[in-house]
Amino acid sequence: MRDLNAALARRREQGLYRSRRILGGPQTPRQQIDGREVLSFCSNDYLGLANHPEVVAAFHRGIDHYGAGSGSAHLVNGHSAAHEALEEELADFVGRPRALLFSTGYMANLGVATALCERGDVVLEDRLNHASLLDAGLLSGARFQRYAHADAVECERRLASHQDKHALILTDGLFSMDGDVAPLAELAAAANKHDAWLVVDDAHGLGVLGEAGRGTLEYLGVDDADVPVLVGTLGKGFGTFGAFVAGDDDLIETLIQQARTYIYTTAPPPAVAEATRQSLRLIREEPWRRAHLQTLIKQLRKGAQQIGLELSNAVGPIQPVMIGAPEAAVACSEQLLANGILIGAIRPPTVPAGTSRLRITLSASHSADDVELLLNALSTIVPLCAQAEC
Ligand SMILES: *Cc1c(COP(=O)(O)O)cnc(C)c1O
Repeated sequence: MRDLNAALARRREQGLYRSRRILGGPQTPRQQIDGREVLSFCSNDYLGLANHPEVVAAFHRGIDHYGAGSGSAHLVNGHSAAHEALEEELADFVGRPRALLFSTGYMANLGVATALCERGDVVLEDRLNHASLLDAGLLSGARFQRYAHADAVECERRLASHQDKHALILTDGLFSMDGDVAPLAELAAAANKHDAWLVVDDAHGLGVLGEAGRGTLEYLGVDDADVPVLVGTLGKGFGTFGAFVAGDDDLIETLIQQARTYIYTTAPPPAVAEATRQSLRLIREEPWRRAHLQTLIKQLRKGAQQIGLELSNAVGPIQPVMIGAPEAAVACSEQLLANGILIGAIRPPTVPAGTSRLRITLSASHSADDVELLLNALSTIVPLCAQAEC
């Protein structure tokens, strides 16, 4: 048998060991972690909806009406009126004929790639795609290739060399660990030219980017028709849980018939769908959250520049600070925590070797004072920890 203990010890030595902290209350900027209060900059609750009183109240009402669990898969009798209404409202929000709920974004991506690909097809992916998209491509049975990050030219060259095959391009909209956006217009042009499908997973952009919160496509001014398959998740900007795929009727019916991660799993609790419907209402009716978030992003980037910290070309709430070695990133994160600030150290294999980083995320529920506190802490801790081991 393999020596698990030795492998774990090696992982620890390399600074790659992962462990969990325990959250003692709701997902808010000031939160209880391991029994103490910290100011957190690592949640994906970008709009501050995870603990919004109206979302919480809708969740309660959903439970009163539907009970706790859905009881079965969507295709048996677990597909409730709440799920159906949410699908219609999500489709309307993203401007597509239909939407289909999945239990998680991971499952949505696996479902899309496996339902749309056949053996002999080609899947092309950005090298920095989210793990669920990479796994989806590997599981699809198609020939799997990656192109350099955000390199639509390489993507097109690869398409051209597979002229005779069906091809699927999979990309994050807003990249989860780098915070930059994919060159969607260029990828769409390449897809159109070679009759390939473009699938955009906009887990981090939806609700957050664009005037109306319609995500990376709206932010970049890309035509909906150029992205025939849009994946969204509900556990980030929406503040709840779950995911969806949006597109035309044939796409959605194909997924219902063939996506195994849709068919062979229990539907999410209907109350979660009721809570998400309320999140969506707030996303549509209260654009001030996006505006406030953008103000905070500008404040952080300007302040970082003043203290000589290099931030990448991130455009949204994900603002990584590159550190390099995993041990140094962990040291930074631990020193920040000692100062009451929680920021995750992201290390391989989540990101490529040599690019360990602090992944700062901002939320509309942060204040300008919170960002000031963050900048003060970064200015003293990062220069110390990034060079020497703290
Ligand atoms: C978080 C994330 C997912 C997974 O979504 P879950 O609902 O958490 O499973 C998929 N794609 C991207 C780009 C993500 O960031």
